[in-house]
Amino acid sequence: MKLPKKVRIRDVGPRDGFQNVRTFIDTDKKLEIIDGLVTAGIQAIEITSFVNPKAIPQMADAAKVAAEVRKKYPDLEALALVPNLRGAENASKAGIRNVAYVVSASEAHNKANVNRSIDESVENLKELVLQHPELNVRVDIATAFGCPYSGTTPPENVFRLLKVCRELRIQEVTLCDTIGIANPKQVSGLLNAVKDGFPELNIALHLHNTRGMALANMAVAAECGITNFETSVGGLGGCPFAPGSEGNAATEDTVYMFEQMGVETGIDLEKLIETVSYVQANVDALVTGKMLKVKNSTCINF
Ligand code: ZN
Repeated sequence: MKLPKKVRIRDVGPRDGFQNVRTFIDTDKKLEIIDGLVTAGIQAIEITSFVNPKAIPQMADAAKVAAEVRKKYPDLEALALVPNLRGAENASKAGIRNVAYVVSASEAHNKANVNRSIDESVENLKELVLQHPELNVRVDIATAFGCPYSGTTPPENVFRLLKVCRELRIQEVTLCDTIGIANPKQVSGLLNAVKDGFPELNIALHLHNTRGMALANMAVAAECGITNFETSVGGLGGCPFAPGSEGNAATEDTVYMFEQMGVETGIDLEKLIETVSYVQANVDALVTGKMLKVKNSTCINF
């Protein structure tokens, strides 16, 4: 297997993981978890989302989280999700400089997620880039592999959005397997095509484990030369379209896999598991990552 020397892992738990948790997580607890992630060596975190708090009450403290994180960790790559122009404006006011804007590769999902057509989302993105030169805008392409409504996503849909990103001089794009439906062959096919067609773009991958495929897909992606991955502490982030399902690829399982293969992550697994344990005790969500169980079982060492 030809693998990169090191990979960069961005933890999206405080955004993707927490947004599905119904019980409000106190801001102090959110900050404690972010603190634990930084202590474990994680250098990039998606810390919150500037969405309408009426839509997602869990994110009502976005500005507070952003202010605290910026004050405490000025060097951390703190990213926030912004669904629209208003979100970008609020993120900017809160001192955030890295934002992720989401657009789906499937029309039906984009409509369900942000109540707009893809064309409208693209127009909105153009406006956002124009109005906020102070922001480093990345694009998350949701349902890049498959959609809960329209099935497998044709690669052309992804290419079309990548062309828009290239025109707008966006540097980083994250391909998201939003419903955890991709398989390793599909991942390798799409990534190789993207690498050939868009060599100037920095591509990251965001994988959900709904069908247990996340790590297999990630290993194949690393072999394709991808070195940026979004994962979630404890594997939080259950899919809203599949209640009770597993969430994102767990950060701790990802660290284990790469370190065991000799790929550097810069993350201390022991310290990270302490934070997973804190998440399990303090967040009303299912920890699906495997490493905490391994740690707690007396007969297995890692
Ligand atoms: Zn996600």
